[in-house]
Amino acid sequence: MRRKLIVGNWKMNGSHAALAELDGIAAAASAAPAVDVAICPPATLISAAATRAPFLTIGAQDCDAATQGAHTGCLSAGMLVEAGAQIVIVGHSERRRDQHETDPEVRAKAAAAMAAGMTAIVCVGETEVQRDAGSAIKVVRAKLDGSVPPDATADRLVIGYEPLWAIGTGRIPSLGEVAEIHAAIRAKLIGLLGPAGTDVRILYGGSMNAGNAAGLLAVADVDGGLIGGASLTAAQFVPIIEAAEAVG
Ligand code: PGA
Repeated sequence: MRRKLIVGNWKMNGSHAALAELDGIAAAASAAPAVDVAICPPATLISAAATRAPFLTIGAQDCDAATQGAHTGCLSAGMLVEAGAQIVIVGHSERRRDQHETDPEVRAKAAAAMAAGMTAIVCVGETEVQRDAGSAIKVVRAKLDGSVPPDATADRLVIGYEPLWAIGTGRIPSLGEVAEIHAAIRAKLIGLLGPAGTDVRILYGGSMNAGNAAGLLAVADVDGGLIGGASLTAAQFVPIIEAAEAVG
């Protein structure tokens, strides 16, 4: 039985003042016993967020593959754990695009996160050109092949399926398209990890909001959401938590 997981990715947004939003989010999380709720603020806010909202899971948006050393500006998984992070997003499409992260790098980051005791949310997704060409499933399968550590266990791995063309655009795939690609991801995970692949949670991400969450979260093999814009305020994020609780 996979519990629903709702993750907010604040990206490069938020200040100490924004942590006040965590109060309402934590209250909604405690009123939703069937749902796990996490917020990934900028790294500078992890420690304060973990102190302010001990009921929530606090996460990071990236980690380095190395444990320490001459890597100016980077943060190791162990450092993030010490700051209060329990999960970390790796291979988000914005980092694959802006920092040119490759599948082997994403896999190494995921492995480092797991070794430090964190759960890694490994992100995969296709561009609009790839979807229009009919190759979305092929692209996502290849990204999973390259990015998932072979020894990953279900309690340490989450997959974030995020069609790039749906991120921040207000557009989402049809529920049929979501069902099709999540089923393909499930089959691939079982192929890669054996029975553990059945228990890995697969999140949908890309313009999930209060209006479309219930429909998306009811799709088979959609085990939660990875939410950007609509996670920045309790007013927008809480209805998504409630929708997940209602779906169960
Ligand atoms: P969005 O972002 O919800 O703003 O589309 C999702 C994500 O990139 O994780």
